Amino acid sequence: MDRSAELYDHISAVIRASGPLTIARFMAEVLNHPTLGYYANRNPIGKMGDFITAPEISQMYGELISAWLIDCWERLGKPDPVSLVELGPGRGTFIADFWRVAQMVPEFSDAVRIYLLEGSPVLRKQQKQRFEMLGFGDKTIWVTEFKEIPDIPFLLFANEFFDALPVHQFVNVNGKWRERLVDVDPNGHKELCYVVAPHTTTMPLLKYASEAAGKTMEMSPAGILLTETISEKLCRVCGAALIVDFGLASPSLSLQAVMSHSTCDPLMNLGLADLSSAVDFGALRRAAVRGGARVYGPVSQGKLLRSLGIEQRSSQLVMSVDHEEARLVIQSKERLTDVAFMGQLFQSIAITSRSLPHVAGFDSP
Ligand code: SAH
Repeated sequence: MDRSAELYDHISAVIRASGPLTIARFMAEVLNHPTLGYYANRNPIGKMGDFITAPEISQMYGELISAWLIDCWERLGKPDPVSLVELGPGRGTFIADFWRVAQMVPEFSDAVRIYLLEGSPVLRKQQKQRFEMLGFGDKTIWVTEFKEIPDIPFLLFANEFFDALPVHQFVNVNGKWRERLVDVDPNGHKELCYVVAPHTTTMPLLKYASEAAGKTMEMSPAGILLTETISEKLCRVCGAALIVDFGLASPSLSLQAVMSHSTCDPLMNLGLADLSSAVDFGALRRAAVRGGARVYGPVSQGKLLRSLGIEQRSSQLVMSVDHEEARLVIQSKERLTDVAFMGQLFQSIAITSRSLPHVAGFDSP
């Protein structure tokens, strides 16, 4: 039996035993099931994978973000020791670029310890091998939960991590929210389908959801709670965080499945397609404020990278490579910044302790 059919059997058995699943529970099963889940088996990122991310497009991305993080460290008064935390490091490409930049500031590279929050055993192994090969394996520590990060000043970066966290979806029925659930097909086909819960939801976190909600709504309690926790910790120990992700101006039902660079039905290809949803930056902003931190943005990825100097960096790179590579540098810069590609679809927010008066690339909070 193929893995998708096995995962279907597992999920339908859970539904038959305890009723329809929330979208969040369904996502967790599909992505994180220990043997059949998407992250347990796949290397999702890159040309051969299912999707490509900003650090994989060009080294410029990781370099500019690293410079931003090191600039924050300087503005914080160069705390030593300091942690660099990456949530969901993927193939480890950002960290590889980060380490190259960090070594240009020896005072910083001596002070920093790298913490990686990674859930996928496949990716964890790849990251470890890559960092050991690059000679800084002794600087890196893996954690499975954010609370394992030590209570010392820290810099945090997350790209396309929050869009992978489970979401709940709701439908407005006569002015009251009912949760959208995943059920087995009522006609006996070996398929899953969406249903609406027969009762109004009692989820307490709903009060933190989007203010702009209309007939439908999607929220990620995991993303909201994590942002609040990060913000509280930033205030306690001092530091700065940068979150970049696929975001939507008006949040709606955005759950999508992506396989081999194309979207497909989230209820099909179980465990073979990646599931993600647009990040509600308004909800993350409010969570950071509740955590007591300063929040900047959202600012589009295009605007952020331009103000951090992507034009200058690409001109510099173009001068040091041959004609064909120069064309690729320009093409990657456009993919990262152009509104037709990632420039506008991807948004960023910065969250900092109150001790940090300003950060590069963002207007005042
Ligand atoms: N930041 C990388 C990878 C993005 S893909 C890049 O930009 O290329 C999402 C990453 O988050 C993967 O590394 C995935 O394994 C990890 N991830 C997703 N959900 C997670 C969770 N709940 N806990 C820990 N890691 C998770």
